[in-house]
Amino acid sequence: MKPAGTDRPCGGCGVGTLRPTNVAGMVMGHRDDPRVRIREDLILPVCGVCGDMALNRENTGALDDALERSYRRKRLRQQRALINDLRRAGLTQVQIERFATLSPGYVSKLRKGKLASGATFRLLYLLRAFPREALRVVSRLDPELAEAGSKLDSLAGTG
Ligand SMILES: [Zn+2]
Repeated sequence: MKPAGTDRPCGGCGVGTLRPTNVAGMVMGHRDDPRVRIREDLILPVCGVCGDMALNRENTGALDDALERSYRRKRLRQQRALINDLRRAGLTQVQIERFATLSPGYVSKLRKGKLASGATFRLLYLLRAFPREALRVVSRLDPELAEAGSKLDSLAGTG
């Protein structure tokens, strides 16, 4: 591997210099998440003035791999927390699957490490933020969900 070493002038700003820089801790967009923090040491040529990176194919691959690992870790943690919250709120796994039109057993897979699609994740995120409203509205499309919504209402009433 050729050292990313030798300093070069930055083509982005024309002022700074590209220097090998550890980008651990840097936050970047990856997939559907605009804030993914790099959680491992990774040396890339970064301009000290404008922050531009001049990445070759190898750098790009390494950066993408690091971001993907962080993204997966963050997203899996979020998914588990979401599902736990929904279960605690009184929804069954079947009701969660029915709400988001997921196949039977899918919620278990999400808990065990399968990544939800961006759309499914946002749907579950909305359901947690507004459980009663979401169930009430979606039960117009699927009346069986009305029961889940009314159960939440009674839990809230006694809670
Ligand atoms: Zn620059």
